Amino acid sequence: MKILVPVKRVIDANVKVRVKSDQSGVELANIKMAMNPFCEIAVEAALRMREAGQADEVIVVSAGVSQCHETLRTGLAMGADRAILIEDDQDLEPLVVAKLLKAVCEREEPGLVLLGKQAIDGDNNQTGQMLSALLGWSNATFASSIEVNDDHFKVTRELDSGLESVTANRPSVITVDLRLNEPRYASLPNIMKAKKKPMDKLTAADLGVDSSPRLQVVKVEEPPARQAGIKVSSAEELVDKLRNEAKVI
Ligand code: AMP
Repeated sequence: MKILVPVKRVIDANVKVRVKSDQSGVELANIKMAMNPFCEIAVEAALRMREAGQADEVIVVSAGVSQCHETLRTGLAMGADRAILIEDDQDLEPLVVAKLLKAVCEREEPGLVLLGKQAIDGDNNQTGQMLSALLGWSNATFASSIEVNDDHFKVTRELDSGLESVTANRPSVITVDLRLNEPRYASLPNIMKAKKKPMDKLTAADLGVDSSPRLQVVKVEEPPARQAGIKVSSAEELVDKLRNEAKVI
């Protein structure tokens, strides 16, 4: 089985995000970028399946600006076998990414596509679901464990109300949640080895996809600063404030 792992380049999770002065988006110039943390978990899950003999090849794929090759090199240094860069300077929407990934799936015919449950920049949580719908493949989201079987995957999903177990027939699109695993760090020798691993370069046109945006960002704003909290001295005072000041009960 081949496993395809789409990985997104996003602002590093430790960087404080700043809105551009013209409110057209967030500042990306000279900002540290990294692989989306949920995508790291997806890469780790794929590598563990290969190491357990359940997969033969792990392919990382990223769509976006040419610097996405750094994100792909990170995936290769973690242990992926090869990479595909779909280079495009537009701001790619989830539906476009899903169409690009569908075209890659038609070329590569993976048994499993493992994505992050969401990218921490746009918080869209859409790409995996759209990809499975476009392909007509089974879909399990928010996986906290994945068991590989001959013709299906048994997936435990994390819900607000608890855990749900589902089976997804192969081929399948699975999105991964935080508790699935703890991703490995790439060792220095593996970082060196990754430089020699193959990376194909494609464009949206090569894959027959129109990557132009359909959504227009009207304005991006910082969330309002949080007000300082207060301490109340009794339950009665709390109820009084909720009823008469906040007027929420
Ligand atoms: P989203 O639907 O944008 O929240 O992203 C969910 C997941 O889709 C990510 O964790 C990635 O696995 C994948 N994904 C989204 N955008 C891209 C992209 N530009 N290139 C590769 N994978 C992506």
